[in-house]
Amino acid sequence: RKPVVALVGRPNVGKSTFFNRLVGEPLAIVDDTPGTTRDRLFAQGEWLNTVFDLIDTGGIDPSKTKQGEPLSVGSADFIDQIRTQAQIAIQDADVVLFIVDAMSGVTPADQEVAEILRRNQKVIDGKPYPPVLLVVNKADSDRYRNMVPQFYELGMGDPYPISALHGTGTGDMLDALLAAF
Ligand code: GDP
Ligand code: MG
Repeated sequence: RKPVVALVGRPNVGKSTFFNRLVGEPLAIVDDTPGTTRDRLFAQGEWLNTVFDLIDTGGIDPSKTKQGEPLSVGSADFIDQIRTQAQIAIQDADVVLFIVDAMSGVTPADQEVAEILRRNQKVIDGKPYPPVLLVVNKADSDRYRNMVPQFYELGMGDPYPISALHGTGTGDMLDALLAAF
């Protein structure tokens, strides 16, 4: 079966921009099960003749309550929604792309996402599963590419700088993605 790749990250890091750049038009919005927010965008991606399914879990927007009110970062509801997003990604995905933002640097919400991802990974053959690839988006210029090493502090291994806006850096990142399947 095709590998499944899930995008995870706090709001506004560029998940949707990245998703749309990689796949063109999103194919479908699926599975809005009452009780659990499982709004996800599915599409097919391809790199070097390898086809994979891409999920944007960002339909779960941890920046707003169900009533549409803004949530403060670190509030119980915010963490709860990030947790739901990460759990869905980890249940469904063969690889998780954890997206962060070079322009803002590491934020408490990123630390929260990293923590939740780590806690939800299983261990298979002595390795964390699914693997998480750290993608530093908005690395549009040298000024922001210089910010990239600070993301090592998230403890998610090598950060891959990209610009979803300009389409740069995605080659190396996608090579690493294929290697993780
Ligand atoms: P999401 O909430 O994670 O899905 O983020 P979006 O894809 O909606 O993007 C949030 C904002 O960041 C939008 O204004 C995008 O245009 C902007 N953005 C996304 N990717 C980039 C990038 O690579 N560089 C810059 N400068 N802005 C970006
Ligand atoms: Mg989005």
